[in-house]
Amino acid sequence: MAKKYDVIIVGAGPAGFMAARTAGENGLDVALLDKKKDVTSFNRSGAQTLVSMTEPYMGNLVVLNPRDNRISLSPNGLSLKYDGPYRNLYAWAFHAPSGHPVRLGVADEGRETGEIARVGVVIDKEVLLQNMLEEVKAVSVDVFPGISVDRVTPTAEGVIVEGSGQSFEGTYCIAADGVNSGIAEMLGFNEDRYYWCNLNVTSHYMSGVDADPNTVITSSGYLDDGKVLFFMAPRPYEGEFNVQVLSIDPRVNLKKAMDHFLTTGFTGEWFKNAKKLRSMSAICSCYDPIEESFKDNVLVIADAASTQEIENIGALMCGWRAGSAVSAAVRERNLKLRKMTGISTYTNWWKEAFCDSYDHEAYMKNWILTFVLTKAERMSFAFGLLDAPLRANFNPYTAGKIMGAKMATLQPVIAQERPDIWLELVRLRWPLKEVYSEVTRISKPISDGPIAPKARGYPGTSREAWVKSLGRFLKEKK
Ligand SMILES: Cc1cc2nc3c(=O)[nH]c(=O)nc-3n(C[C@H](O)[C@H](O)[C@H](O)COP(=O)(O)OP(=O)(O)OC[C@H]3O[C@@H](n4cnc5c(N)ncnc54)[C@H](O)[C@@H]3O)c2cc1C
Repeated sequence: MAKKYDVIIVGAGPAGFMAARTAGENGLDVALLDKKKDVTSFNRSGAQTLVSMTEPYMGNLVVLNPRDNRISLSPNGLSLKYDGPYRNLYAWAFHAPSGHPVRLGVADEGRETGEIARVGVVIDKEVLLQNMLEEVKAVSVDVFPGISVDRVTPTAEGVIVEGSGQSFEGTYCIAADGVNSGIAEMLGFNEDRYYWCNLNVTSHYMSGVDADPNTVITSSGYLDDGKVLFFMAPRPYEGEFNVQVLSIDPRVNLKKAMDHFLTTGFTGEWFKNAKKLRSMSAICSCYDPIEESFKDNVLVIADAASTQEIENIGALMCGWRAGSAVSAAVRERNLKLRKMTGISTYTNWWKEAFCDSYDHEAYMKNWILTFVLTKAERMSFAFGLLDAPLRANFNPYTAGKIMGAKMATLQPVIAQERPDIWLELVRLRWPLKEVYSEVTRISKPISDGPIAPKARGYPGTSREAWVKSLGRFLKEKK
């Protein structure tokens, strides 16, 4: 008879690995399934950073402790092995199309101050995944590579998970299958979720790039077929960078856009002697988070339930919490306790620490600035007003707020000198779904499963939201 598991975890990313390790440590019988044949390979675009090292992320401070080869999160107390290379990040620079940088932090000052000043670090995610594989094996987790899950069936007693011709029976299932979660789609978790767009990405690891080795760089391009973002982070290996081009506009040819940044304008200067080492890509469906993340013995966690991406740190935290919650739930069942609270320790934490603590619309603003400031020259003028460096930060929820707050103080100057730009910037106060509306209409969510996601049409903006935004607009005009 096939083994019955306490928990079947689908997806061996940071969230699934951490959930498996935690459940294994608690003595559960755990199966960890991933469609990749080599679960430690990293084959999708990603900057491989640990973000937000100068402020808490989902309630925790992140520490990389190279002395003992550990990453730890306090005060929660989660820690894991990381014995790979790393590089400190001291600044995040947002370059206007003209090249003018708005700096969050100054790399020279950070280098002088040392590690306490780092805003993040870049790691090698393949080493992280190798370390996590060792850790789950040490707690007797059964790892099944090459299983592409295409069916999850809740039963009276638990759940059956099937894929690649194999079937697994468990009491619980944790869906850690990432941003385009097929399980979330199959089981209807996406039904009430607002769908914004897809984020399409192409990337190269490159050597010979002439740029600061401790700064993350973002810029934007206004190309013939649409608007694109450029994002470049150093790699932990000497002289290497991870160069990414991203767009939410499905009409954009990303390969051409990459060529643009590698050869023309101020970014082209950095790549004169550069060599491509490895190329990857990604597509991410961007939704609002899943608020009710558990039903029918299936718990959906991390990227599978978040707004586009929860970051590696967030995924580790979700995995750790989910592994603990399911461990408690299994124990409660075995003890036949009347009051079952295990799962709710996760679902309540998820709502509080992620859904309610972050402004998910503000996060989505990270991708839309080129649609607000519609011409490269306008973006360059606005950024050109920001000369002095701003507070060092590398948190996708905070950085935009820091820049937005500074920009707000410049509004009188912009209104006076460039009313055309002021009128466009005001759109940031509009209901964001309206600003996104064109992109949302022409985009379709994707899924890593057998079911094609329903195209969730753009519902239009409510009258109430419009009245509010008009009120704000008139107040500002005065
Ligand atoms: C372009 C880009 C850049 C990024 N840069 C950063 C960064 O610099 N820093 C940062 O912290 N985060 C970054 N992220 C986000 C980060 O990668 C994710 O937040 C994190 O990996 C989420 O972890 P996860 O375990 O939830 O999902 P994932 O890491 O996506 O893991 C999901 C796993 O599920 C498996 N899977 C999927 N479907 C199935 C199926 N049907 N059957 C079996 N297995 C399946 C996949 O193979 C995968 O191994 C970036 C993401 C992108 C797209």
